[in-house]
Amino acid sequence: MSKEVEKKEEDFFFKCPSCKKGVVKISKSIYDLPDEDKMLILKFECDKCNFHNNDIIPLTTRIDPGIMVLKVSSEEDLRSKIYRSPTAKLEIPELELIVEPGPNADFYFTNIEGVLFKFENAVSIYRKNLENNDSQIEEIEDILKNMQKARKGQFPFTLKITDPEGGSYIIPVNNSKYTFEKR
Ligand SMILES: [Zn+2]
Repeated sequence: MSKEVEKKEEDFFFKCPSCKKGVVKISKSIYDLPDEDKMLILKFECDKCNFHNNDIIPLTTRIDPGIMVLKVSSEEDLRSKIYRSPTAKLEIPELELIVEPGPNADFYFTNIEGVLFKFENAVSIYRKNLENNDSQIEEIEDILKNMQKARKGQFPFTLKITDPEGGSYIIPVNNSKYTFEKR
């Protein structure tokens, strides 16, 4: 394995999705590899049940504070990975979707497809709870249709992460569709 040169650890917490009682701690460590690549290790551990998970992510992108923008226009782009730190805001303006900063565990680490899937779930639940004569129905159904297209790469959209503290990142499948603006 690689030699650990730099280790920066920050902890985050959220309610356990498995037992709903415990608190899951996320530890984030960054390792510098000898070939100058960086690697991020995320550890998820519940203090009450057995829920745990590890993610090892090659870091090819910066983790400085800033605004990350990825243009998504193909099925391939949906496999781009993202990590939204709890201090960051995640947006898809074309679909009117926003995750405000905060410990919304569903949106910590996933790929673009995962983001769409979770949004679609949330919007479907919202739709089901509307009365039949609600004036929002048409708009919500349009958003749902566009989300379904987006999940097949047939609805181009922009995914934007605004992170004033740093730590969030996007690992694009296609680098030419990604921009980072340092804050
Ligand atoms: Zn648990």
